[in-house]
Amino acid sequence: MTTRTRVELGRREDLGADCANCFGLCCVALAFTRSADFPFDKDAGDPCTNLDDADGCRIHPHLRERGFSGCTVFDCSGAGQKVSRHTFAGRSWRDDPETRRSMFATFPIVRRLHDLLRYLDEAITLVRASHDETPWVQAFEHVRLLSDGAPADLATLDVDAEYDRARPLLLEASAIARGRGPVGADGQRVGPGTDLVGADLRGADLRGATLRGSLAIAADLRGAWLDRCDLLGVDLRDADLRGTGLCGALFLTQMQVNAARGDAATVLPAGFQRPGHWSPTADATDGVTPPRRAPSGRAARSRRR
Ligand code: SF4
Repeated sequence: MTTRTRVELGRREDLGADCANCFGLCCVALAFTRSADFPFDKDAGDPCTNLDDADGCRIHPHLRERGFSGCTVFDCSGAGQKVSRHTFAGRSWRDDPETRRSMFATFPIVRRLHDLLRYLDEAITLVRASHDETPWVQAFEHVRLLSDGAPADLATLDVDAEYDRARPLLLEASAIARGRGPVGADGQRVGPGTDLVGADLRGADLRGATLRGSLAIAADLRGAWLDRCDLLGVDLRDADLRGTGLCGALFLTQMQVNAARGDAATVLPAGFQRPGHWSPTADATDGVTPPRRAPSGRAARSRRR
């Protein structure tokens, strides 16, 4: 009998980064561009100049002040340790050119499969109380098996097609979970794919709404009510979540949280990590009353090296 590691079980609480069991894949396999998030260009496949010989980051405690805020936001969804320890069974990209080529091609594919596993795992939780969860469980198992595949199989996988296949189930789970409730934001139109860049949504009642795929960059969501609000794929870069309760939000990811602004009064769902760059105090909320603190919130850790 084989025993799966936690990341191989595919449950969303086990799909966080485990840098100690990864060969620094995000620091090598992925490209980045000189911008507000990175101080220089790096091609995919080139090791970052800050990566040391043990696959650790030389400047990890100082990433933001050195201009690498993009590194503090990124979340591999457990793909790093999965590819390093399972897919390639402990072989490193440093070992030989073929492993290097294949590993770098596989990493982003497994990462997207893991993101899909997270969504499907949450969907199972959302429908379980009121519906037959079998279709969601079958979809989850299908994607989990794919993520366990050999490098050659993963390299030819059409991940977009897998997302297309899962989308109706995720939409149905969202509709079931959201049910009927107040939808709106005090005159601010909301819905899937809405342009909410810089929107003032302080204290807005977004319970039961779907913002799926919306652009909410730099939106002010302080004190917004997000219970049963579908946030799948919402761009929350620099969104202000200080004092906001996120426990009931649907399809929220760690990377969305990492990209946003928050403080000590922001209430995170169980299993989420509090970003190290968030304010350690409860900042002023301009008269916005934060939602009541929900009973959860595991201490968080930032991406470590
Ligand atoms: S975490 Fe460190 S080594 Fe990795 S890409 Fe960022 S700066 Fe480079």
